[in-house]
Amino acid sequence: MTSKSYLCKACGTQYPPGEEPPGACPICEDPRQYIPHDEGQQWLEWRELAKTHKAEIRDDHGILGIACTPSFAIGQRALLVKSSAGNVLWDCSSYLDDEIVARISAEGGLAAIAISHPHYYSSMIEWARAFACPIHLHEAERKWVMRPDPAVRFWAGETNDLGGGLTLVRCGGHYEGGQVLHWAERRALLSGDIIQVIPDRRYVSFMYSYPNLIPLPPSRVQRLADALAPFPFDTIYGAWFDRVVERDGSAVVRRSADRYVRAVTEPGLPS
Ligand SMILES: [Zn+2]
Ligand SMILES: [Zn+2]
Repeated sequence: MTSKSYLCKACGTQYPPGEEPPGACPICEDPRQYIPHDEGQQWLEWRELAKTHKAEIRDDHGILGIACTPSFAIGQRALLVKSSAGNVLWDCSSYLDDEIVARISAEGGLAAIAISHPHYYSSMIEWARAFACPIHLHEAERKWVMRPDPAVRFWAGETNDLGGGLTLVRCGGHYEGGQVLHWAERRALLSGDIIQVIPDRRYVSFMYSYPNLIPLPPSRVQRLADALAPFPFDTIYGAWFDRVVERDGSAVVRRSADRYVRAVTEPGLPS
């Protein structure tokens, strides 16, 4: 019985326990991620992360955000969504320590974890075990779960009602089973990088691969925007601290989808 478990340093994915690192990281070998050109594939034993990093727990535009500092791998932060149906952790982080467990426990623990797409699966099984809760993922991403576990509950179809006004919406796009979380009570959309919050906050964007700049076909972007039409929202929480659109979220997604489609289908440059 081994107690070691390795993280891919580029994407932060944790692999099943083993004395030696895996031979490869399929998530980074996929065109939506990358293997660093200078270092190649690098691994870190999971517990080593706590020796060089510490928890970062702070408010992010009205929701508690959780990550580590300095940033690790892709650097996303998780969000603690407090609903009448219990707390849901949106997205996840490779880093987990006693400080985070104590803070979330003080907030009432977790009823569930839901993660936008495989780039943020990170150490999700450690979190599910720490809080004895399930993880809701879309079944289209089954092959990207690198550490299979009974805690993972795959769902099928286009929406998944978690109760408490929380709905997972399958948007596709960046990943076929890419999902976002709609929080009706807050009129908020938690989007990971299925919808990318960009610098000016008046628009968002959508890509097949962000690091490798591979666009999506316009039909996929239209489908993504259409999937969100029944779910009105003002605020959009992207994948990192302070990547937040504060207002007019539904209109921002619609006009951004329109701008994207024009940019890739019409002659001339977008204005
Ligand atoms: Zn990786
Ligand atoms: Zn991604």
